[in-house]
Amino acid sequence: MEHPKINILSEAVIGKISAGEVVDRPASAVKELIENSIDAGSDSIEVEIHSAGQSLIRIADNGEGMTLEDAKLACKRHATSKINDIDDLDRISTLGFRGEALSSIAAVSQMDLTSRNESDDAGVYVYFESGQIQKIRPAGRARGTTVEVRNLFYNVPARRKFLKKESTELAEIAGVVGRFVLAHPDIEFKLNHGDRTLLHATKEMGALERIRLVLGADIADHMMEITFSSGKYNISGFVSRPSSTRKDKRAQVFFVNKRFVRSKILSDAAYGAYRSLLERGRYPAVVLHLTVPSADIDVNVHPTKLLVKFRDEQVIRGTVTDAIRAGFNEMKTVSPDTRPEAPAFSAESDHGGSVILETPEVQTEFAYEVKRNSTVVDGGAESSAAIFRDETLPVERDDMVQLGDCYIVRVKNECITIMDQHAAHERILYELFSKAVESAPVDSQNLLFPVRMDLSAGESIIMEKIIDKFKVLGFQIEPFGERSYVVQSVPAVLNDGDIKKVIYDVLSDLSSYDLNKINIIDELIKLTSCRAAIKAGDALTKGEMHSLFEQLKKCSLPFTCPHGRPTVSEITIDELEKRFRRK
Ligand code: ADP
Ligand code: MG
Repeated sequence: MEHPKINILSEAVIGKISAGEVVDRPASAVKELIENSIDAGSDSIEVEIHSAGQSLIRIADNGEGMTLEDAKLACKRHATSKINDIDDLDRISTLGFRGEALSSIAAVSQMDLTSRNESDDAGVYVYFESGQIQKIRPAGRARGTTVEVRNLFYNVPARRKFLKKESTELAEIAGVVGRFVLAHPDIEFKLNHGDRTLLHATKEMGALERIRLVLGADIADHMMEITFSSGKYNISGFVSRPSSTRKDKRAQVFFVNKRFVRSKILSDAAYGAYRSLLERGRYPAVVLHLTVPSADIDVNVHPTKLLVKFRDEQVIRGTVTDAIRAGFNEMKTVSPDTRPEAPAFSAESDHGGSVILETPEVQTEFAYEVKRNSTVVDGGAESSAAIFRDETLPVERDDMVQLGDCYIVRVKNECITIMDQHAAHERILYELFSKAVESAPVDSQNLLFPVRMDLSAGESIIMEKIIDKFKVLGFQIEPFGERSYVVQSVPAVLNDGDIKKVIYDVLSDLSSYDLNKINIIDELIKLTSCRAAIKAGDALTKGEMHSLFEQLKKCSLPFTCPHGRPTVSEITIDELEKRFRRK
């Protein structure tokens, strides 16, 4: 008789295969071990790494420790002290619960475990090889646990071959430890590679100091704090000020109930808050902590627990966007004395010394991406609060001048405010326009002389696609034979100006966009505002300058134009004193 072709795999092989799901590189072992230390109630965790984790990973904590019996059980598959049955999954408050980490790590390494539980007189030492206990003896140790993982993957050569070069693996480990540093401000963390200390977060450090340590000063120094609660959700953390954003999403870190997660819902939500404030291809830096009832999330959707499922995704998304928006509004009202130092440079320069949180290959890309030459502009304009200060003195229009037919300079309240007339007007129109569209129907104004437009083939293809959207904005445009259109009415907010030119310009801007991928209404509002706004080079009367300041003051997000460039910048007496070295 032939042998059956199906084999039942041995426990040892099963162990190695499933180990790969939890531990695929040194950094994931570090993550699992630190999670265990945190779950054990430690407030000090020390990580030592040799050759990027391939020869040694040692994690020592001062948590509750293990008894002899627990230490023997801990490395068996599905051994956990954290849940008992399936209902417990709904109220998980620990980082671990699957009982897979220690058994997985032990299966693919030579592992020493030294631990002492408070209730025991002595500690215990256990040595494992390929998951099997080889030695067991009493050991001296203060309360807590030390796990030493040697020669990771020594018995899984295929896995070993897939490891990246040392610097990459080490950066990944530093990223992992960095996230814990951000998630657990009351725990001391130390990361050493050989005899070099890569990170040391003490308990005294504040949240922002920890961000500086992990993400670098260039990011930390341009952030604002937010705290927000809505119903059962609490949100706190730090986010970029709109004028200092980044080229990639590496500095976006989300924690849900102190667990680091990757979540498109959350990064989309953050992006949504900045939407009209960012130039295309720029992203905010975000360190956000969400607290939600544990029954409202499912953390058991992936073996590495990096993904979560929210019970109500839409509400979560909206709440995060609201939280950041509320932060912007608060920033607007912060008095100049208490607000953080105004940034002098963009967050663009390289962030020397900081820990990179994500390697580029793990970034998810937004589908919405249009290539454009985006220039980096940053003036820290959002810190300019003088235009909001209590105006007790009547404004003298003579206090304003126009410089280079582009900047309006105003001297008032011991402060020189400089406004970019185009950017400011663009912001004003954008907000008026968006508001009008929201409370549709939009007020439109009939043109005394309807305007006829003869479009090129390309333009008319775009026009056909968006003519309905134009209607939403308050443009009444009718087809008038092949490739010709007649504009009957226009949105009231645009009552003057060269309407024909505005529409041509918008059509030409749209020709470089993928119309299937953008929010056409919002894009039309932005483009129309941009094209209809006064330009650099337009001479203004005193009355017009004054009115720009007044209208900008009424905007809800006055500090940047819809593309994210600053609208105003200011020089205070304080800065002058520094400049002239009186201070
Ligand atoms: P899980 O964390 O999912 O329970 P692990 O395999 O990571 O599974 O750990 C198994 C068990 O070993 C834990 O439930 C815990 O009881 C114990 N343990 C692991 N690491 C530590 C530690 N550093 N301190 C105290 N107990 C620990
Ligand atoms: Mg665990």
